[in-house]
Amino acid sequence: MSRIRRGYEDRFRALLRRARARRREQGVQWLVAKARFLSARDGISLADALAQVYERLAARQFFQPSAPGTDPSHFLCDAGLGGLARWLRAAGYEAAWQPDIDDDELLREARRVAATILTTDAMLMERRLLRDRIIPAFWLPPTLSIPEQLALVFREFGLAVRSPRCMTCGGELRRVAKEALQERIPPRTYRWLDEFFVCGRCDKLFWHGTHWQRILATLSALK
Ligand SMILES: [Zn+2]
Repeated sequence: MSRIRRGYEDRFRALLRRARARRREQGVQWLVAKARFLSARDGISLADALAQVYERLAARQFFQPSAPGTDPSHFLCDAGLGGLARWLRAAGYEAAWQPDIDDDELLREARRVAATILTTDAMLMERRLLRDRIIPAFWLPPTLSIPEQLALVFREFGLAVRSPRCMTCGGELRRVAKEALQERIPPRTYRWLDEFFVCGRCDKLFWHGTHWQRILATLSALK
């Protein structure tokens, strides 16, 4: 029996790893305890109870592997998550957002660019393409603040903060010598700061002002 139990412990561990669960060993022990309880309550063998617990867990969407070919660093935010999209870009991730996109268009776009959908819309999660994990998607409770949304997405996908991307369009930022940008920088800022960045996609100018300091503080809390 202990050989069978160890086999299931390994399978539980693999599922929890795939779902990026924290405190995996505790989770494994909890699942074994649950099987013991079912075995006693229903008068079935522990092996059968372990199999039941495993099958129920593996069938849940949360424990499915993400769709093949999906880039986990590319997100598509639904109409209500524009703020989250900007913060994901600041944290170095591609996050597309269109305020007036409808559900069908959102699904088409997610397939086209192989992105993961982030949504607060429980109805959208019931669409067949999402339910069957053809398009990967993650649901966020609509009551969260933007930093809480960001923290949840980071935990769910095991993300780490990267070099910032353009908060407006998600393009890559490149550092440019300030002399070359003198005409575009307000004179006071030009005097006080030396690091300036330009978005390679939309050409927007960025520097690390007070707004950026606030963003950094929030991002560093995610580590
Ligand atoms: Zn840009």
